[in-house]
Amino acid sequence: MFVAGGLWRILWERTHPMQILIVAALVVLAIPLILAAAWGVFILLKTLLDMGRDEAHVRAERRKHLRPDGQPYPPTGTGLCDQCGRAPGAVYFLPDGKRLCQGCYDAADVATRDAHLETQESAP
Ligand SMILES: [Zn+2]
Repeated sequence: MFVAGGLWRILWERTHPMQILIVAALVVLAIPLILAAAWGVFILLKTLLDMGRDEAHVRAERRKHLRPDGQPYPPTGTGLCDQCGRAPGAVYFLPDGKRLCQGCYDAADVATRDAHLETQESAP
């Protein structure tokens, strides 16, 4: 305690008041700069994280509207399935006027799907 107090007194006696003022001013100016830099880094990291999350969300949404083979599903709506006669939550409206439930659509052969896709692509 005595040593520390002696050192402090020597430092105090040998330091010009202007030097103390300059160091104090630098410390006072540095605090807001450090806070601003930390805030900037925080905002940057948060933005990057949100961008990644949005990208994953968009990809998940896109996958929901695509069949396993990557082709889009036809538009959906409420109605009766033309094949099995059931009324599920939603049926696919094929461009040729046919309505199919998820099960019948999945069970339909590839040729039917491809014909559906061709009529959809040739439509304006
Ligand atoms: Zn059906």
